[in-house]
Amino acid sequence: MTITNNLKQILDELPQGVKLVAVSKFHPNEAILEAYQAGQRIFGESKVQELSAKHDSLPKDIEWHFIGHLQTNKVKYIVPYVSLIHGIDSFKLLAEVNKQAAKAGRTVRCLLQLHIAQEETKFGFSFDECRQMLDEGQWQTLTNVKLCGLMGMASNTDNAEQIDKEFCSLHTFFEEAKQRWFANDDSFKELSMGMSHDYHAAIAAGSTLIRVGSKIFGERNY
Ligand SMILES: *Cc1c(COP(=O)(O)O)cnc(C)c1O
Repeated sequence: MTITNNLKQILDELPQGVKLVAVSKFHPNEAILEAYQAGQRIFGESKVQELSAKHDSLPKDIEWHFIGHLQTNKVKYIVPYVSLIHGIDSFKLLAEVNKQAAKAGRTVRCLLQLHIAQEETKFGFSFDECRQMLDEGQWQTLTNVKLCGLMGMASNTDNAEQIDKEFCSLHTFFEEAKQRWFANDDSFKELSMGMSHDYHAAIAAGSTLIRVGSKIFGERNY
């Protein structure tokens, strides 16, 4: 019952308005089912093949979130059922999601990923690249995607000040984006930030969606 207990611990202290994405990547269906039986319905995966296999074999009322780096050639596999794509990091990817969503007869909810960490390896727009993309306005012609907010990952560091600074910078940009491009759009309301080791700081900085894996399911065996 470890998973159930871990889950309850996190949910018990979650403020109103903050939702938990249980990140189940690399963990088997049995682990997901334990969390499901404890009431969890939102799960996050970062590999297309793994997500597809789990979606096919697990209960249909699970809300699947794709949280990883998405390649354009794989968009078509998840678009028919995915509930939220967290990692849109280029206009090209957004346009491909739109195209496949139109084919599937859906409107797919998406978050724009911003690069807020100091590490160079993480994906995402810079603030300026994102401003430029939103200013160009072509995204508004994509009627089968819905931009619902932003996502970011802080640096993988023990420096709490650094983490706070990065989360706050994303929150500030979120407010700017809401004001400048989404003032009349109530759907633009999600700020996806915070993982097992930093979700408290993320919540303090305004997160509405935390993505927690190892603190629920234990360490992953890569
Ligand atoms: C794996 C992953 C998480 C969860 O990480 P934990 O440290 O296990 O909580 C969150 N977000 C993204 C994008 C991930 O890839």
